[in-house]
Amino acid sequence: MNTKKPYETLDPENWDEMRALAHRMVDDAITYLQTVRERPVWQPVPDEVAAKFNVPAPHEPIGADAAYKEFSETILPYPMGNIHPRFWGWYMGAGTVFGALADFMAAIMNPNLGGGNHAANLVEDQVINWIKEMLNFPKDSSGLLVGGGSMANFVGIAVARNVKAGFDVRALGMQASPQKMTVYTSSEAHSSVQKAVELLGLGNDNLRKIPVKADYSINLDLLEQRMADDRKAGLHPICIIGTAGTTNTGAIDDLNALADLCERENLWFHVDGAIGAVAMLGEHIKPKLIGMERADSIGLDLHKWMHIPFEAGCVIVRSKKSHRGTFSLTPEYLAHETRGLASGDIWFSEYGLELSRQFRALKVWMSIKEHGLDRFGRMIDRNVEQAHYFGELVRLEPTLELVAPIGMDIVCFRFNPGGLNDDALNILNKEILMQLHEKGIAAPSYTTLDGKYCLRIAIANHRSTQDDFDLLAREVVRLGKEFTVK
Ligand SMILES: *Cc1c(COP(=O)(O)O)cnc(C)c1O
Repeated sequence: MNTKKPYETLDPENWDEMRALAHRMVDDAITYLQTVRERPVWQPVPDEVAAKFNVPAPHEPIGADAAYKEFSETILPYPMGNIHPRFWGWYMGAGTVFGALADFMAAIMNPNLGGGNHAANLVEDQVINWIKEMLNFPKDSSGLLVGGGSMANFVGIAVARNVKAGFDVRALGMQASPQKMTVYTSSEAHSSVQKAVELLGLGNDNLRKIPVKADYSINLDLLEQRMADDRKAGLHPICIIGTAGTTNTGAIDDLNALADLCERENLWFHVDGAIGAVAMLGEHIKPKLIGMERADSIGLDLHKWMHIPFEAGCVIVRSKKSHRGTFSLTPEYLAHETRGLASGDIWFSEYGLELSRQFRALKVWMSIKEHGLDRFGRMIDRNVEQAHYFGELVRLEPTLELVAPIGMDIVCFRFNPGGLNDDALNILNKEILMQLHEKGIAAPSYTTLDGKYCLRIAIANHRSTQDDFDLLAREVVRLGKEFTVK
């Protein structure tokens, strides 16, 4: 009789049972995705379910089967909803099935993409090269996969600051600055730009949020004027951040004009392309992105309009030397060898804040291989067409109105039956939105433009069909009329 206890590790005690559970999990996952349309877009987590997240961590095992059962009952039924065909909130991607499976394999291999000589680094390097090509950036430019557009903007603006400061920021810090540095962007720029400026010690007061034109793109005359005023006042302009697709309305700044201005004034040109940069893959938006290829750095998201499962962002920097010069630090324990595991040229930790990094490149690599870039382009173009289709529905329906021009794939609209002032309309439209969410019908989000609360759909969804937009228009009108007669 063998009474010896097995040597304790974190591996399964019974591999066959784990294999059976794993098969069940994959089956459940595929069914869940295949049937997503049949479920409500969103439903609140019931109080009794939420209460289960309020107990202390177990000291004794409940085992994988029981943990998975709990997951299936308390977590899986209450998703955010962005994999559903009628989710158009904020700006999110809808995920790819194979991308999720790739993420699973990435976790199985579990490498650390800080550096070293292993295949995962080659995958990230290749994905970055593909993105450079997509953006018409030179082969010898530099890049890094990051968590998202926020981190991408942070990295780009960090390099901008260090290059344009005129002194050694790394050694001396911002305290050595002889002049105040100023940064320029539009009033519609994403909040992550402000966060970056604050965290880089530049100060939000020195971020010039230039007013926009009627199409919500930056007003170039006001930008030039402000920059001239700042120079006269003895300040030091260092960077302009253009937006390729604003979050509110999808507006695209005149990137070519911004590139000209940066060239003339010797400023760093960063483009926040979190939403729009990947539209280079399609036909509809691409012409409006002219000038983006002249940027010094671009931040973009692959988890938005390319649907790679969260998180997947990327920053591309034209000058590899400047990029590396901002982040590289090689203590002895990270010294590179010429042979063995610690050899190789690719050390991503020298291009960003993070040392330990997940293998997020694999889900990108596998999704692009599965579908090819052209299919992603077609999905992007179709979303643009759907935005204009929905815009037509709004124009044809007397009780609906557009509140902003349709920017790329974003439509801002509201129910307006006439005879109500903005305050009343704001209350009414908010109620319509809450009902759409709470009844699980659809998930637009909202924004307020010139004091007008509006429903906002950002159609970054490869699962949405024309019927989904017909249904949205119908339901908004139905709910709107229901609340108005009361
Ligand atoms: C979403 C967004 C960001 C931030 O990207 P995350 O991936 O959410 O960090 C930055 N800029 C714009 C224009 C965005 O829409």
